Parts: sequence; structure tokens; C-alpha cells
Amino acid sequence: MSNILPIYTFDHPILRKKLKAVEEINAEIAELAEQMIATMHNADGIGLAANQVGKNVAMTVIDVSSYEGFEQQKTLVLINPVIEAFSDEEIPMEEGCLSLPDLRADVVRPAQVQVRFYDVEMHEQIIEADRILARVIQHEVDHLNGIYFFDHLKPIRRALLKRRLMDIKRGDVEADYPLFVGE
Ligand code: ZN
Repeated sequence: MSNILPIYTFDHPILRKKLKAVEEINAEIAELAEQMIATMHNADGIGLAANQVGKNVAMTVIDVSSYEGFEQQKTLVLINPVIEAFSDEEIPMEEGCLSLPDLRADVVRPAQVQVRFYDVEMHEQIIEADRILARVIQHEVDHLNGIYFFDHLKPIRRALLKRRLMDIKRGDVEADYPLFVGE
């Protein structure tokens, strides 16, 4: 069985779901984490949430090691992550999403966060993140709560993306990685 899973696109209902907390970190969860990491890397992504591969579990994978200053950052698996603190400082940064091919926009978010989660070894971890890592953590934890990055935009900015969103919803979409289009 291939480790590469198709990535679900807008407007599949699972991408609007608040995902179920993982109750037991078992072999099945560990295997899904491996598949999600392979799928993320295959798509040149830096983060992927479980609902983006059609799974209703609160788990996300993140790899920002291609970014300057994060070369030593290991690939993270975040199970049941909760962002416990946000910085007062907010900054804009351009975001994209593997579920929204060819759609990018500047999103304003807190510059730093503190996140608590379990890793696949069942260890509870707390990470304080800034720059790209803080950004991806917020984007991915949003996915686990059924939120897209464009939900953070002002209505007028979101309106500019509407045509592209409708294209994706209709399945008029291409990417260099396998997509799951439809219901
Ligand atoms: Zn995304």
C-alpha cells in the first residue's frame, strides 16, 4: 500500500469538521502519522492535518526544516494539540494550503505561540514557537477545528478569492500531488 494519500480539497465536509481527540496512541495512529509525513513531503508541503487526508482524528504533521534558521527542526507530529498562549504582537505572512491549490493570501496572526500536544511516543510536549513554525502551527491547529486560512481574512479580501474557491469546489483544479476531489 502506498504511503502517499490523496489530499482532500475545498469544499469537502471533513475539512469543516472539528476533529475527534485521539484517545489512544496506537500502531494505527503511528502508521497514519508516517503516511501523513510522506504525503506532506511528496506535496512539498510544510504542514498537513489529518482531515486533509480524510481522517477524523486530531493530529497534524509539520516540517519547516527547509526554512532558514530551522534546519535542525525535526518533523513534528502533534496529537491533540492545544495552543495555550498567543503573543500580543500580530504579523502578516503569506499562506497557502495543500487543500487549496494555487490560492495564496496574506494572513495576520500572532507572531508567537505556545502549543501543548502529545507526540507519537505518547510524551506530552510544550513548544514555544515563532516565525514560520508559529505560523504553521496556527494554520494546522485551525484545520483540526474546521477552519481555513481564508476564514481569517476581511470580507473584502475573501471576496477576491471567491472565483478561485468556486473553481476548486467544482474540481477544476490541478496539483503536482494526488488530490481527492468530490464528496
Ligand atoms: Zn492548510
